[in-house]
Amino acid sequence: MNNLRQWDNEHVWHPFAPMQAYREENAPIIVSGDGFDLMDADGNRYLDGISSLWCNIHGHRVPQIDDAVKEQIDKISHTTLLGMSSPPSIELARKLVEKTPAGLNKVFYSDSGSTAVEAALKIAHQYHHQKPGGSEKRNRFVCLDHAYHGDTVGSVSVGGINLFHQVYGDLLFETLRVPSPVAYRVPEGHTRESYLQHCRDEVVRVLDENADQISAFVIEPLVQGAAGILVHPKGYLKFVREETAKRGILMIADEVAVGFGRTGTMFACEHEDVQPDFLCLAKGITGGYLPVAATLTTNEIYDAFLGAPHAGRTFYHGHTYTGNPLGCAAGVASLDLFETNHVLDNVAKTSLVLSERLSELADHPHVGEIRQRGLMVGIELVKERDGAVPFDSKLRIGHQTTLAARERGLILRPLGDVVVLMPAPAMPIERIHELCDKAFAAIDAVVER
Ligand SMILES: *Cc1c(COP(=O)(O)O)cnc(C)c1O
Repeated sequence: MNNLRQWDNEHVWHPFAPMQAYREENAPIIVSGDGFDLMDADGNRYLDGISSLWCNIHGHRVPQIDDAVKEQIDKISHTTLLGMSSPPSIELARKLVEKTPAGLNKVFYSDSGSTAVEAALKIAHQYHHQKPGGSEKRNRFVCLDHAYHGDTVGSVSVGGINLFHQVYGDLLFETLRVPSPVAYRVPEGHTRESYLQHCRDEVVRVLDENADQISAFVIEPLVQGAAGILVHPKGYLKFVREETAKRGILMIADEVAVGFGRTGTMFACEHEDVQPDFLCLAKGITGGYLPVAATLTTNEIYDAFLGAPHAGRTFYHGHTYTGNPLGCAAGVASLDLFETNHVLDNVAKTSLVLSERLSELADHPHVGEIRQRGLMVGIELVKERDGAVPFDSKLRIGHQTTLAARERGLILRPLGDVVVLMPAPAMPIERIHELCDKAFAAIDAVVER
């Protein structure tokens, strides 16, 4: 154990982690899991309050998924999808097509949410060159302020989180931006309503002014996760779909975070009956077991890539571990469990319990706003509610809450000063109560009532 800690600090560069602070913190070294609990090398047990970074669905060490992966290991662990195929990748593709919104019939695999978005951007770009009716030079993308679509250079280009993205500015391609339709801190001169209307007007203006140059509109449907669980108003997604469709602009729905039950339906687009041209999936696709991602698209787009090999219409893109059989076997087993365990029914119940419990924080003097959609929750901590005055970022209030939660046997990971609760869709009600008890106690320990 002592060696592990020392070697972690000496050799492992952790993602999205200020390493100087990390090394002083004795962060848990997780050695095993059991249902919705995580065990560390010091013998502590924690409730997994963030679905192991938003990807776990049915819990850890789920017998059906474990068995599916073990059975596949006994056959083969990896074989390529470049010019060949494998049963789990075929079966998972078929199931995804069945479960996703109508019209999405083709599945392009990759390994992470970032690469799922990256593939969609490139396919959209190439599609406009090769589509029936003649090539068009549509090389601009529209994205939302504060968007997060991953950390590769293309996905960062369509992202908008300054803290993560600013330093790469000169590496990125230019995009068109529209404001996020959320109204916690509205610019001066606006009311909530007038600001949300302004956000819609901006979509129309940007699309009108650049209509024939825009390749696609990239959006996280309903909830902008990494931005701090920003919940869009009802109807915005459908509005974007209608405005893009009118102008021949493709829509890329990045459901990497919101997919697989987190907002109450299997996919967030279902809430507004929206059919995107691309659906990007990752995080929950394997139940949170293995790195697999998928970019789904329509026959129309796929067909533009057909032709004799020498015609140069091929999509020359793909990763070594694309469609990995172990990951796809886990994905198939996870989708089966949604049915056998009635996971979406559970989400309906647990998200109600969460809303009820969250109301306990409604008049907490340091809770500025509580945002929830299904099982995605953001509790924004502020110095003063009046005027939504933030804490000094040096205080790392969100991070302090994580440390306080750890002492109480709960794993959390904040987004700045937004405390995120992201229970697994299959988490039972008693554990949701435990999550709230511990999280609220941690908040009170850091910012007194
Ligand atoms: C997490 C996330 C990504 C990136 O996924 P990775 O697997 O971390 O590359 C992309 N889009 C959204 C909406 C996400 O939440």
